[in-house]
Amino acid sequence: MNLFEAQSGEFKGRHIGPTEADSTHMLRTIGENSLEDLVGKTVPAAIRMQHELNLPNAMSEYEYLQHIKEVSLKNKTFKNYIGQGYYDNITPSVILRNIFENPGWYTQYTPYQAEIAQGRLESLLNFQTMVSDLTALPIANASLLDEATAAAEAMTMFFNALNKDHDHISRPKFFVDNDTFPQTKDVIITRAVPVGIEVVFGDYKQAQFDETYFGALVQYPNDKGSVEDYRSFIDNAHKVGAYVVMTTDLLALTLLTPPGELGADAACGVAQRFGVPLGFGGPHAAFFAVKDEFKRSIPGRIIGVSIDAQGNRALRMALQTREQHIKREKATSNICTAQALLANMAAMYAVYHGPDGLKNIAQRVALLTQTLANELQEEGYELVSEYFFDTITIRTSDAKSLIAKAAERQINFRFIDNNHIGISLDETTTPNDLLDILLVLDKENENDVAAFSINHEDVLSAIPSALTRTSDFLTHPVFNAHHSETQMMRYIKMLENKDLSLNTSMISLGSCTMKLNAASEMIPLSWSHWAKMHPFAPADQTKGYQQIVDELSAYLCEITAFDACSLQPNSGAQGEYAGLLTIREYHESRGEGHRDVMLIPISAHGTNPASAVMAGMKVVVVKALENGYIDVADLKAKAEQHAANLSGIMITYPSTYGVYEETVKEITDIVHQHGGQVYMDGANMNAQVGLTAPGLIGADVCHLNLHKTFAIPHGGGGPGMGPICVKKHLAKFLPGHVEDTQNTVGEWNGTEKHAVSAAPFGSASILLISYAYIRMLGANGLKAATEYAILNANYMRARLEKHYDILYTNHNGQCAHEFIVDLRPFKKSAEIEAEDIAKRLIDFGFHAPTMSFPVPGTIMIEPTESEDKAELDRFCDALIAIREEIKAIEEGTADKKENALKNAPHTQFAVISSEWSKPYSREAAAFPLPYVKENKFWPSVARVNNTFGDRNLICTCEPIESYMEEQV
Ligand SMILES: *Cc1c(COP(=O)(O)O)cnc(C)c1O
Repeated sequence: MNLFEAQSGEFKGRHIGPTEADSTHMLRTIGENSLEDLVGKTVPAAIRMQHELNLPNAMSEYEYLQHIKEVSLKNKTFKNYIGQGYYDNITPSVILRNIFENPGWYTQYTPYQAEIAQGRLESLLNFQTMVSDLTALPIANASLLDEATAAAEAMTMFFNALNKDHDHISRPKFFVDNDTFPQTKDVIITRAVPVGIEVVFGDYKQAQFDETYFGALVQYPNDKGSVEDYRSFIDNAHKVGAYVVMTTDLLALTLLTPPGELGADAACGVAQRFGVPLGFGGPHAAFFAVKDEFKRSIPGRIIGVSIDAQGNRALRMALQTREQHIKREKATSNICTAQALLANMAAMYAVYHGPDGLKNIAQRVALLTQTLANELQEEGYELVSEYFFDTITIRTSDAKSLIAKAAERQINFRFIDNNHIGISLDETTTPNDLLDILLVLDKENENDVAAFSINHEDVLSAIPSALTRTSDFLTHPVFNAHHSETQMMRYIKMLENKDLSLNTSMISLGSCTMKLNAASEMIPLSWSHWAKMHPFAPADQTKGYQQIVDELSAYLCEITAFDACSLQPNSGAQGEYAGLLTIREYHESRGEGHRDVMLIPISAHGTNPASAVMAGMKVVVVKALENGYIDVADLKAKAEQHAANLSGIMITYPSTYGVYEETVKEITDIVHQHGGQVYMDGANMNAQVGLTAPGLIGADVCHLNLHKTFAIPHGGGGPGMGPICVKKHLAKFLPGHVEDTQNTVGEWNGTEKHAVSAAPFGSASILLISYAYIRMLGANGLKAATEYAILNANYMRARLEKHYDILYTNHNGQCAHEFIVDLRPFKKSAEIEAEDIAKRLIDFGFHAPTMSFPVPGTIMIEPTESEDKAELDRFCDALIAIREEIKAIEEGTADKKENALKNAPHTQFAVISSEWSKPYSREAAAFPLPYVKENKFWPSVARVNNTFGDRNLICTCEPIESYMEEQV
């Protein structure tokens, strides 16, 4: 290889773990001569891609960073007063550097292993407390995807609460106030239609409720910025037994009477302006809070307080969120990946500023807005509302020319319609900015606007006294203790130290693809030309983003062998939903709208059936064979039986059992023959890229988890992106967006346009990560990544199969990019359960693999290509050592109750305490293999008691004393 080729191939060598020498050794262990042979025996020939992916040549990291800098400069960073749910703000540098840019935080997995996740669990509990306090509603979740989908989740939650029997919907109606953000209305319609909800738009002041209504939504402050008093509206809804959700703004709630005190049953919105960059639409954390009666039906994840094996306070995800994958079509929502990292940033923003700091920011914004309003009224402008917080809407006869005039000064106002413009101020706005705004709006062009003054003693007369907040918030010590940068830095570090992330050791979560999230992929996200872009900025300012969107869409089409792509869905599950809607609308467009039966294999991920139900489909389960393959005979029978109403099938490939089914083409053919469409869940795309493709196995549509296969970090439970790719015939049914055509929400006819997210390109800024991944690997590197993922998995399989039963390999004995280890036999032989093994792995410094999915009592290991041989060996050594410990119990040399597995994980405190009465040594407990001494990771709590916490749901930071007292 010449020196320059070596440079362009550089990133491949950094991304892929094993060296050539390692690979040779690993192939020998597997019993293959070459990587090609291994892949040949793993991926069925009939579906192999016969060509090289047509993608640009790989760039080195240095070249890429120069390239992406150039592209970024095509974005224009105007001063944005567009608002509409997205506000510029100041990310405190201490949070930017120590969370947003810190792999210790952004590479974390969802906190399923609570003992090594107490740091982010505490931070997410802070988020919940913050939301609960500010909304004055007792139960809050740990984030949702965006404000629009959160509003739709509230609608669905109310609908289900009052319509238990979906075959006889007695309350189909949901009222939505006209002055709600257009993107929220759009997503609400999308989500309402398939499940039979009738959305009624109107003026809340004139709303007439009767018993056909199950709920209502109002926005506070509303779309035009007006602060309205909804008390009697809420009372009227309650009189007929309907529920009310308020979409709202956390900063405004520091000054306004909170929704809970107005009587609302739920409140939601987005915490973006709490220190999270605009990023052209995301990622941002939505919030969701409810009254106590909804605590079992609230969507998303809830962090709750429990105790550990030693009786100490310990946090973990509450029952419904741990179990949601089991509920399948009965799940309350399909939310899986949410926005944990951004929720952590928002929570830290509240920790950093505290209640007084937040209130100061809010007051400053409100005072500037009030000053602006006064000046404009003096200038002769008419405002739409009397009361407001940060947004005013101006009546004008010529909105377009004002917008153009503003653009000359690099200022964006919101174009509402020809007669209205909106101006939203934010944390970054200064009195000088106000001057600039006034100069644009100066009617006489006298340039005399410098005269205005801001009187800090001014009463906030724009906030009505009936809606002025009087209650305290954020009184918990955590929001009042870390206000210097030193304190803040140490608080963040203390939490980080409790959590195991990819900068400690491999996280081999089957189906989740926890691969390297390279620094060069991440760095551009902090640059202002990406971070400061408003999602609704005029198109001529966003050319850099458009280029990324266009190119990435084209690459993903090439990789999937499909024709069109939508980058809108914010998670895999949202992608499923969006993809199923394209199928639904395709059938409808052909006059076959009755096709509503979706076949779903028993092994499917829980989000599949949950998404199908949301798309208005009926789920019919297809059986699996002993070897894990879809039971083709059963499939055939069911496809025939439901032929008249068959909508399609959802399959995962390679299957969730980790094998490439040779029968996959037969399966897709059968479904097509009966008029159905094939949806492919792309979570396992890491086993396909460059070797095969959804388009080649006969699928019509798939989603891609960019936060799995395409290197977006998992963030401790989000962000994610779940774009969908489709064949040509489905392209016209891809999601649309109101900001494309300036608000046609009212005319939406149920087939043409439907947004599934608040922003046109979802969490656009993190698309850069996947874009970087593809540009730096190129066709060759992407294919190699897939091959090495298969190599790494098969190497571990080969080492472990001498000690454990491996389930579901192909006829050559091989797995795909992941494999399932059967732990069920140990229950009988040693009373050891999968959980004991998962917790014991912590003592060895490892995060457990995926537990009990898709088969209960098993673990599913997916090493990914990024792990090197030495790390794979350490993990195998740990599992082999654990097998020996189980053997000791089986043989009676270790006690059935008092053993290192049952007592795992061992905390530092347990091991050093002067009492040690265990029948095994302290060394065996905490340093079970020599390598552990090099890099010991201590769990901060002992095994967490899940049931204790489930019986006593506490999901805010309440003083632990009060909680313990309740128990006695
Ligand atoms: C991760 C996963 C999903 C859901 O993706 P999210 O981004 O978490 O919503 C769906 N199907 C499978 C097989 C998965 O592994």
